[in-house]
Amino acid sequence: MTSIDKTKLDALRRGFQGTILLPSDDEYEEARKIWNAMVDKRPAVIARCADTQDVVKALTFGRDNGIRLAVRGAGHHIAGNSLCNDGLVIDLSQMRAVKVDAAAKRAIAEGGATLADLDAATQAHGLATPVGINSTTGVAGLTLGGGFGWLSRKYGMTVDNLESAEVVTAKGDVVRASASENPDLFWALRGGSGNFGIVTRFEYRLHAVGPDLLSGLIVYPFAQAKSVLQQYRQFIANAPNELSVWTVLRKAPPLPFLPAEVHGKEVVVLAILYAGDPANGEKLIAPLRTFGTPVGEHVGVQPYVDWQQAFDPLLTPGARNYWKSHNFTKIEDGLLDIVVRYVGTLPSDECEIFFGALGGMTKKPASDATAYAHRDAEFVMNVHGRWQSAADDARCMQWCREYFDASAEYASAGAYVNFLTEDETDRVRNAYGANYDRLAQVKRKYDPQNLFRVNMNIEPA
Ligand SMILES: Cc1cc2nc3c(=O)[nH]c(=O)nc-3n(C[C@H](O)[C@H](O)[C@H](O)COP(=O)(O)OP(=O)(O)OC[C@H]3O[C@@H](n4cnc5c(N)ncnc54)[C@H](O)[C@@H]3O)c2cc1C
Repeated sequence: MTSIDKTKLDALRRGFQGTILLPSDDEYEEARKIWNAMVDKRPAVIARCADTQDVVKALTFGRDNGIRLAVRGAGHHIAGNSLCNDGLVIDLSQMRAVKVDAAAKRAIAEGGATLADLDAATQAHGLATPVGINSTTGVAGLTLGGGFGWLSRKYGMTVDNLESAEVVTAKGDVVRASASENPDLFWALRGGSGNFGIVTRFEYRLHAVGPDLLSGLIVYPFAQAKSVLQQYRQFIANAPNELSVWTVLRKAPPLPFLPAEVHGKEVVVLAILYAGDPANGEKLIAPLRTFGTPVGEHVGVQPYVDWQQAFDPLLTPGARNYWKSHNFTKIEDGLLDIVVRYVGTLPSDECEIFFGALGGMTKKPASDATAYAHRDAEFVMNVHGRWQSAADDARCMQWCREYFDASAEYASAGAYVNFLTEDETDRVRNAYGANYDRLAQVKRKYDPQNLFRVNMNIEPA
């Protein structure tokens, strides 16, 4: 492990409002844990920042001493780039404040806020912006990669709702990026991942949402999977943007609304959110109950924030996870045959394949309007490999890779940068698509030395 000169560390500590953690500190072991337990990195120093000035201080310290830097938001990215071995982690996970201006419909979230922090603050005013489906995810990584969830068909990607950002650049300057200030940086931040600086504040546009909305699950037996999915693709193609329905194929968890004989058996789950008047939503979702014979359902009007946390129990930190994902512009029958074949051989009770429905307003901006390029995607499919024991690593990862390869011929070009694993460096260019060269130009301007390189990296042009 790199040992960092004590006098230099003392200089970093001076005036630092947060906490500096070294391997010898009690809190260090906890601080180097992230969501994916397969990531086991040992940084030389973890600088837990309390404010923007701490971020500037940590960055300057790392840069001037030639120490490798990683930047941590909420530590959810599957690839584990929020940590680095032997280097300095600039950890924003304690910077979680969210301020809402309800009259102006704006929220400002600090760079370490989670989706739960943002949703709680905005929903207190009956407002929200589209974010992801697991509330412990960080706004930072999610936003910088694009960001989508239940509200995206109605309100677009998270980046489409970003109004401005406060950024600590590689030079150590604190700048604002918006449509009128550093517009090239603002463009790059909206999909270019963590390549352009450390974002200490995100300003989002908000929309009137809920706070009570129709949402829930309808569950079908696996024997009906192909037919359910065929009807689903027809249904979602004609659904209004207010309605979002995702499909999840997995072994049924022991949910109380499912009969005991279904627990642990493969099922097809339709997960539903209607972002409008619940009575209208009830009428719209009625056909979803006629795709076959459901084994159970749990649908009703509930607070949007509860739905935003509904999947948290299945996505707790500390498990071993390996993902593979594709974008699709359509779901073809050949793909469904492959899905059914692989869900028939799930390697653990926790593995799943899901299709997240995009479309709607996510397709409206041109593919070069923001750095996030994949405006043609109707679905993002993720093979979520998840298991508990290291002894199962090879077997589970192999299943993910084989399904990914088998389904590749049906996928559209491109990849979602927020779902790429550590070993998918060959897909990084794809993830930025046709915007890569322009991103490389912006990278040259804001980070010519590639200081921010522990990420899905864009090399300076
Ligand atoms: C269970 C689960 C569910 C998910 N569901 C969704 C979903 O519904 N929709 C969706 O779009 N995505 C989803 N994701 C993917 C998610 O968007 C990414 O994992 C995202 O990177 C998480 O952000 P983070 O801040 O928690 O991650 P981190 O791992 O902390 O950071 C991710 C990357 O961003 C960089 N970074 C972090 N903070 C900053 C900052 N403040 N400034 C600059 N760079 C920074 C890091 O260096 C790293 O490269 C999900 C992930 C998980 C684990």
